[in-house]
Formats: sequence, C-alpha cells, structure tokens
Amino acid sequence: MAKMLIGGELVDSVSGQTYEVRNPATGAVVGTVPKGNEKDVQQAVGAAETAFKEWSDVTPEDRGAALTNACALIKKNGAEIAQLLTQEQGKTLFEAGLEIHHLVHGLEFYAGLASKVRGSHVPLPQKGAYGMVVRQPIGVCGGIVPWNFPLTLMGTKLGPALAAGNTIIIKPASTTPLATVRVIELIAQATFGEGKAQKTLPKGTVQVVTGPGSTVGEEILRNPRIRRIAFTGSTPVGRHVMEVAGREIKRVTLELGGSDPMIVMDDANLELAIKMADIGRFFNCGQMCLGVKRLFLQESIAESFAGKLADILKTKTVGNGASKETRMGPIHLEAQRKEIEEQVEDAKARGAKVIFGGERAKGGELDKGFFYLPTLLTNVSDDARVSVEETFGPVLPVFTFKTLDEALAKANSSEFGLGSSIWTRSLVSANKAIDKLQAGNVWVNSLHYGYDELPFGGVKSSGLGREHGPEALDYYLEPKGVVIVNV
Ligand code: NAP
Ligand code: MG
Repeated sequence: MAKMLIGGELVDSVSGQTYEVRNPATGAVVGTVPKGNEKDVQQAVGAAETAFKEWSDVTPEDRGAALTNACALIKKNGAEIAQLLTQEQGKTLFEAGLEIHHLVHGLEFYAGLASKVRGSHVPLPQKGAYGMVVRQPIGVCGGIVPWNFPLTLMGTKLGPALAAGNTIIIKPASTTPLATVRVIELIAQATFGEGKAQKTLPKGTVQVVTGPGSTVGEEILRNPRIRRIAFTGSTPVGRHVMEVAGREIKRVTLELGGSDPMIVMDDANLELAIKMADIGRFFNCGQMCLGVKRLFLQESIAESFAGKLADILKTKTVGNGASKETRMGPIHLEAQRKEIEEQVEDAKARGAKVIFGGERAKGGELDKGFFYLPTLLTNVSDDARVSVEETFGPVLPVFTFKTLDEALAKANSSEFGLGSSIWTRSLVSANKAIDKLQAGNVWVNSLHYGYDELPFGGVKSSGLGREHGPEALDYYLEPKGVVIVNV
C-alpha cells in the first residue's frame, strides 16, 4: 500500500482510512492509498513550518543542487514511475515517458535559477539614503494538481517553490496519487552539500497528502498557515479556490480550463498543420488544458484538410496505454467520457456532421475501460456545447472562415483564453493574430510543448498568474522594500 509523506515519514492517514486507485483501461485495482483529511493536512503544515526555517536558510546554490540531485533520482527510477503513471492515469507509456522527461527538465530549470534570483538597489530622493528590494520566500505553499498531467503539473509548482526557499505540500488528484507519491518520496531523499557536510532536504520540505478535494483540498485552501496556493484544475473549482483562499489573503495562482483555437490560413504549411492538429488535439487522449479544442480552417482548404486529418485518425490504435501498439489510451474517468458523449450528442442535435469517431471504441478488452474514438466534427454550430464549453477529451470541432478578422472574432468569443495558434506564411497575418488573440499564449506555426523557458498561463476564465519561465519564481517570492539612511 502507498503511504503519504508527512514530516519526512511515510505514513497512513490519521483516520486509518484508505481508498483504491483503479486503472481506467481495465478497471483493475492499481494500488491503495491513505484517505487523508483535515488532520493530515494540519500535521503536514506543522512540519512544513519547521522545515521552512531550515530550508529558507540553505544557500540558494545548495537548494539548486538538491533539485538537480532529485532529478537524478527521478531519472534512475523513470521506468518504474512511467508504469505507475500509465496504470493509474491511462496515458500511453510513451506519453508517460515524455511526462517524466518534462518533469525533470522543469525541475532542472528551477535548479539552475535558484542561485540567480536578484533584488535591486534603488536611488532615493533624500541625500544619504537608498532603497533596496530584497526578495524572500513566502513560507508554506500548497500545490493542488489535476489528473491529466499529475507529475509535470506537480513539478511546475514544486520546482519554483523549492528553488525560492519555500516548503510545499502537494495534493494530487484523488485518482492519480501513486506516481506522485513515489516522486515526492524520491525528491525528499535528494542530497546537497559535499562530504561530511552532505545533507538531505529538511524533513517536511516536500510532503504529499492524498485524499479528496472536499477535505484535504479544502483544508489547504482554508488553513491560514499555508500562505500560497498554486492550483491547476477546472474553472469552477478554480473560482472556489480563489474565494476561499481569498479570505486569508493568500497568494494564489490559477491554471484553469481552456478552449484553444487553432487558426489555419490557406497559405500555411498544410502538411505540418494537419500533423500538429492531430497531436494538438489527441495527445493524452485530448485531456490537455492547452489542447486544440476548436479548429478554424480557411474555406478553400477546409474540406481537404478535414479529410486528411480524418485519415490519420482512422489509423490511430486506441487501447490500453501499456501496450506498445496503442497510440491513444482511455479517457481517465467514466464521468468524463459521459460528459464527452453528451457534448457530441448536443453538437449532432444542432446539425454537426461526424467525419470520424463519435462513439466508444468497442469490443474485447476495450469494453472494460473508458475508451472513446478520436472524433472529428464539421458543420458545428457556434452555440453547440463543444463551441462554448471546454471539451476535455478526444473530440475536435471544425469551423470555417473567409477572412482572418472573422476567425479572430470567433476565436475570441470564448470565455477562455489560455493557448491559441495561427498557421500561416504571412508575417502580416501572424502579427495580427499575435496582437489580437485574447490568450495568455500565441504560437505561430507551432503548438506549445510546455516550454519551461516561457511563462504559461491564461487570461479571462483560464486563470491568474503564470507558471513556467523565470516569471513563475516571482509568484513564490515576496518583495521587501528596504530603506537605508547613512547617519
Ligand atoms: P478539478 O476537478 O478542478 O480538480 C483539480 C484538483 O482540485 C484535484 O486535485 C481535485 O481533487 C482538487 N479539488 C477538487 N475540489 C476541491 C476543493 N473544493 N478544494 C480544493 N481542491 C479541490 O479538475 P480536473 O477535472 O481534475 O482537471 C481537469 C481540468 O484542469 C480541466 O479544466 C483542464 O483544462 C484543467 N487544467 C488546466 C491546466 C492549466 O495549466 N491551465 C493544466 C491542466 C489541466 P480531487 O481529485 O480529489 O477531486
Ligand atoms: Mg474533477
């Protein structure tokens, strides 16, 4: 049975309760984890406060060294972690491997930045006086993570939090705790310092509490001693996070839902665009915040583009992520598949045409899991649920347009504003899209690979603040204004 890591010890929940984690491809039990509640979070907070005193005092260079060392441990155990991730989440082993690669790359990025945090010297109006801006860690942070990328989205919080000298308590999604628990256990073993001075992370620097959002999650939001909340998840829960954490004036970042538009002009490299529309929508079985969720095609290329994309989808092997032949795993949750089915039925009722898919992948072993075929819809009305809502699964609605202005207006009509892309060889069109798209991110002839180098986040209902990039560190540091007068 898996355990939580609290105060440097692998522990059961205070209540002694547990729950099972199941494989979405087979229904089989993958593991059992402690069902934590408020009390477990409170214990973790105590340990995190104690650890903060020590960890914030470790030199930035050593903090970086510890993160680098943690990465070596994760890489060494990568194959085992990938297996766990595939079993609990459903994604293919290839996707799980990529996720671990991304996790390590991100942690290494912040390992390097730990010793590069700068403050500033500020000339002041009075003679003999000057100001400084000193940047200090905030304290105990809470990271709440969804099930689509359990490890990378944990790393985007833990990396900058630790680099800046904070301590962090991670709450994984209820359905994907196993790989996270294993990775946190490894990070806690990371060493820094040389020879006799070699140490491991102070106990309580990194911790993981498993259990429901309604208890573990709520306590992380409410507990006044947790000063900073990093949340990734759905927009409705994100609103709630901001309301509850707001009462304690906590620092909050929110990475929420998206409905990214991909706009393809007739002068684009169409071969590349078709290939990327497939990856952009169907990677991770379409369960990506930054997935292509609305495809806008210029009229003259629309039919042939959609036809070629459908041809790719027809060859995609749907199945258990553990099998080498599988190109797309199951939807993670039964309820999520039901939601996808309802969204597709709604689109059909409003006149959409199913070019491919539109139903479950069936037969034999497939009947045991939450499988769904990759689905392409054309003739989709603007008020269909797939046009208005986030579609968190393998369904791509296609829209057509005459002019770029028309495409931009439709793209911006969404309540979301996370990613967006334009595909064109025209600098004029590209620049216009960069300027006008209401999104936290615009990619030209490209899709996001989760670059650690660039800030990532949303506008409108897609979120608040940024993860990734040096910018993310700002959200884990408090600037302190200092005045010094020479007397
Ligand atoms: P979710 O239901 O909002 O859950 C996310 C996390 O919040 C889980 O750990 C969940 O725990 C926890 N939670 C639930 N209720 C809570 C509460 N009352 N207080 C505190 N925590 C609570 O999201 P999801 O369905 O797992 O994930 C899919 C969503 O995430 C999509 O909308 C997707 O677009 C978004 N997402 C955004 C980004 C981004 O960077 N912008 C990245 C990935 C995903 P339980 O599992 O225990 O309920
Ligand atoms: Mg949920």
